[in-house]
Order: sequence, then structure tokens, then C-alpha cells
Amino acid sequence: MKIKSEQEMLEAGKIMAADAQGVIELVGDVGVGKTTFVRGLAQGLGVMEPVTSPSFTISKSYACPDGRTLMHYDFYRLNEPGLMLDELTESLKNRNNVIVIEWSDSIKELLPKDHIIINIRYNDDGSREMEVLK
Ligand code: ADP
Ligand code: MG
Repeated sequence: MKIKSEQEMLEAGKIMAADAQGVIELVGDVGVGKTTFVRGLAQGLGVMEPVTSPSFTISKSYACPDGRTLMHYDFYRLNEPGLMLDELTESLKNRNNVIVIEWSDSIKELLPKDHIIINIRYNDDGSREMEVLK
């Protein structure tokens, strides 16, 4: 699917929110739009707070009006996995969580086999190519 603008990426996230559950892994280079997608997803889930990149905090959580929690992880800067692995393991057990993960390489073994993978790539014209694998 071709995503021509930031606005369209937000829309894609909103649409995915309709049946979001479990784990969504976002794969793509720096600046390609992963966090923008999560912003749209959060909007679609009814999150009122602004979504900011968790690249320094590694994880951020947002309460959804339906009682679920959106958990947003970014493991790009993770160099001491220990504690964060425990937190992620607990988080993955909680069926009340919708979990989105950027830069999952270091924690891939923990992810459930049936999770959704979204690949985002740059096109030469500045648009993005988005592919959803279930
Ligand atoms: P990532 O989390 O993958 O590093 P971000 O979502 O933080 O990326 O940043 C993506 C940047 O690219 C934003 O500044 C956004 O405005 C811009 N952008 C331009 N075109 C698009 C597009 N088609 N889809 C998503 N983001 C886009
Ligand atoms: Mg990001």
C-alpha cells in the first residue's frame, strides 16, 4: 500500500486500530514513519494524550477509553536488556494490552509467533510503501 503523506500514515494507523489486538511489530528505517503510524493507531484507539517517540524511555503506555492499554516500545537504544525484558515479558502476558514495537531485533525471541508485522519502506518520490504481514 502506498502512503503518500504523513496524514495518510496517520489514517493507516487509525484504520488498523479497528481490529488492533496483541502485538504489532513495526519494521523500517529511521524516519520512515513508524512512530507516525503509532500516533494514528493511538488516535483510532481513542487515546487523548499526545504520542511521542519512546526512543529515550524505551517504553510508553497510553490508556484507551475501552479499558485497554496501548504500550509503545522502541528498543533502538537498548543496551542493557535485563529489566526491560522482564517488563516486556509481563506486558506480553497481559491480554488487555495492545503492543506496538519499533526496533524489535534484540527481543524478537519473546514475541508471539502470530503477531502482526508491518514493513514500511521509502519510495524514491518520498512516499512510503507499507506492507502488513499477518
Ligand atoms: P520513525 O518512527 O520510523 O523513525 P517518525 O514517524 O518519527 O519515523 O518520522 C517520520 C517523519 O517523516 C515525520 O517527520 C513525518 O512528517 C515524515 N513523513 C513524510 N512523509 C511521510 C509518509 N508518507 N509517511 C509517514 N511519515 C512521513
Ligand atoms: Mg520512531
